[in-house]
Amino acid sequence: MKKELNGISYTDLENEIISLGIERYRAKQIFNFVHNKKIMSIDEITNIPKKTREILAENYTLNKIKIYDVFESKEDETVKFLFLLNDGNIIESVIMKYKYGYSQCVSTQVGCKMGCEFCASTKEGFIRNLSASEILDQIYCAENYLDIKVKNIVLMGSGEPLDNYSNVLNFINLVSDENGHNTSLRHITLSTCGIVDKIIELSKEDLPITLSLSLHSPFDDKRQQIMPIAKKYKINDIIEAMRYYFRKTNRRITFEYTLIDGFNNRPEDAKELRSLVKGMDVHINLIPLNPIKEFNYGFDGNKELEKFYNLLVKNGLKVTIRREMGSDISASCGQLKRRVLPKKEE
Ligand code: SF4
Repeated sequence: MKKELNGISYTDLENEIISLGIERYRAKQIFNFVHNKKIMSIDEITNIPKKTREILAENYTLNKIKIYDVFESKEDETVKFLFLLNDGNIIESVIMKYKYGYSQCVSTQVGCKMGCEFCASTKEGFIRNLSASEILDQIYCAENYLDIKVKNIVLMGSGEPLDNYSNVLNFINLVSDENGHNTSLRHITLSTCGIVDKIIELSKEDLPITLSLSLHSPFDDKRQQIMPIAKKYKINDIIEAMRYYFRKTNRRITFEYTLIDGFNNRPEDAKELRSLVKGMDVHINLIPLNPIKEFNYGFDGNKELEKFYNLLVKNGLKVTIRREMGSDISASCGQLKRRVLPKKEE
């Protein structure tokens, strides 16, 4: 099977082309065309001789994904993409415009095996991991379509990034390569449901990316009711791993906290959250629940959200309410695919 040219690191490319009889300096030209000109075929690498292109085509392929559908919010400038993979699977990605630039939420797996009750991405189960090039191409496709440059990348779409560890790591290295897309590592956020051994492994990679924990409750028994993975990893162990990450990278940790009516917005939740974050630079992101048909326990309006926000602030916590974006286009992960696909395939 041919290797994916758009999934190889710059250093590996240099080493591999030498063994194919191609001069080392060509790596920069090839990498530049693949990642900055965002070509669709090896034939388009026109800054190298035809013979070199032929050698590349004999040994590599470009794994490109295609836009399947695009949905643009009428409420704000959020744009949601459905992408078609070469094997016929479909994934989602969202572009959001903030005052500091464009941010893109990318998927890392087709489906997800983590089974969080409130999440649409997991309802059809896990299908497969995405390759590094498939994660990367979500950005290139969106950028080409909208004629923009994405500044912030959030690994928070379908899939648990740390369950696809090596491809995700490869993606982070590729997208931050100065010869390629050149995204600052500080502008990358990886969101996990709390896979302890992988958090520790990631801490040792020495990458200053932001680590975000889907916490949703500071109590094990509560977490276990909505996140099956919580039966395997206890909060104390996860927090210990997050502390290790914080010590190694000195990067602020984020907790994502989806508010579920009467479930995780009690004064004791705020108190417990305060004791969990002691000694760490933690930011809590309060998220209004985006209801799905299997899980519909969100708040009616913002009053309760603000009440809990004030409670956390009173407890000395740093907290923001995540502004809901693109709600008219089902911008939460997994929702759009479920809404649109049955209709398209009728
Ligand atoms: S919230 Fe994340 S980890 Fe949980 S099922 Fe959805 S995609 Fe998977």
